[in-house]
Amino acid sequence: MPHPAGLPAERAETAIATHERAWGTREVLLEAQRCLYCHNAPCSRGCPAGVDVAEFIRSLRTGAWKAAARLVLSANALAETCGCVCPTEMLCVGECVLPRIDGQAPIAIHRLQRFIANWARTRATDLFPRQPDTGMRVALVGGGPASVACAHELARRGHAAVIFESGELLGGLNTAAIAPHKMHAELPLAEAEWLLRTGVEVRARTAVGEAITFAQLEEEYDAIFIGVGQGPDRRLGLAGEDARPLLGAIEFLRGVKTGRLATPLPWKRALCVGGGNSAIDAARTLKELGVPEVVLVYRRAEDQMKGYPGEWQAAKLAGVHAHFLTLPVAVLASEGTVTGLRCIRMTPGEPDESGRPRPVPVPGSEHDIAGDLVIMAVGQVGAGDLLPGLPDDIRMGGARIAVSPETGATSRAGYYAGGDCANGGAEVVNAAAEGLRAARAIDDYLRTRAR
Ligand code: SF4
Repeated sequence: MPHPAGLPAERAETAIATHERAWGTREVLLEAQRCLYCHNAPCSRGCPAGVDVAEFIRSLRTGAWKAAARLVLSANALAETCGCVCPTEMLCVGECVLPRIDGQAPIAIHRLQRFIANWARTRATDLFPRQPDTGMRVALVGGGPASVACAHELARRGHAAVIFESGELLGGLNTAAIAPHKMHAELPLAEAEWLLRTGVEVRARTAVGEAITFAQLEEEYDAIFIGVGQGPDRRLGLAGEDARPLLGAIEFLRGVKTGRLATPLPWKRALCVGGGNSAIDAARTLKELGVPEVVLVYRRAEDQMKGYPGEWQAAKLAGVHAHFLTLPVAVLASEGTVTGLRCIRMTPGEPDESGRPRPVPVPGSEHDIAGDLVIMAVGQVGAGDLLPGLPDDIRMGGARIAVSPETGATSRAGYYAGGDCANGGAEVVNAAAEGLRAARAIDDYLRTRAR
């Protein structure tokens, strides 16, 4: 029986509880009372979307909930999911002054934001009335968070917005690859559906470059926004990498969240290669789904991990182990079935281009680590391959679409981009902010052209 949101009801992620429950009114109001409503509040500067945190908490506290919701959602349309998934200790909450003033806990800004955004989605009906039709049409390529935020804002401003999504579901990685302990897939789908009720058309299973070309889009639309995210999981190019089971981190999480992986998982000892947030998320999810042993294999030292320290500490508490300063050099297999990784020990060397000590192989230190599943969490390939037929004069910056940081405009007039395909991979809140930024710039572009 399909889930109402288009998800199978029997999905592996439903076996994992989200770690933060939504707060009720009383908890929210008590927390809002602790806020100092700081002038020029540092918490707002810590938010990539620039939410006016002090003002929205003041509005919340004084019962002006519609005003609070408008403040939050006009800066970040995806405020509800960001309240669940943002690494807030690195952003707004990490900037709160309370711990520095008198040692209090920082304000749980994300929980207040999640509360008011949920209230708006489920209770407020007239927050964002649509302006009169402008007669202008905008195509949005990809249905991820940047496109959803952009389309919502364009529709509010009276433009006809049409999202072309190659897959079945909206929300991109916000739906398909957030670790289940942070958020289940229903929420971003419900959020996107609500936001797009402003009058956005969605054409699912319609890949631009295949079902419709960029040339056709240019004929039918007045502007084009590209928000396709990044490509598939990278591989390391190791000997034996075609053995099975070997999955990319995003591929694994997508399977957990959209139903292609069934529980109980069959593996006894999983090896996750990488030291970023995707590696940590995949490892913790495997552990929480009952895989007895889960081991992270990372070529640098523990204090050089790219993943957030709080997430790694939580993964360790969940039972994930690690081999640091260990580089896989081959996937071991028997008759095509994974049996482990051949690795070499590393030692920290001189700083590399990232400023971290370059890991240097220790001669003669080859050793094998047994495992019956390998997860490659070493990043994603760039967006280029996702855009067949993209006009040649759209400049790329490496694997990203090069855009103006102020407007999201590309090098071809009428084309804009945002989210992971333009920023190379960042948080959901960055994608939401970039979608909004582009919508405002597209609105200016269309109105200038119409004069
Ligand atoms: S810094 Fe902390 S106390 Fe000050 S406005 Fe922001 S949340 Fe409130």
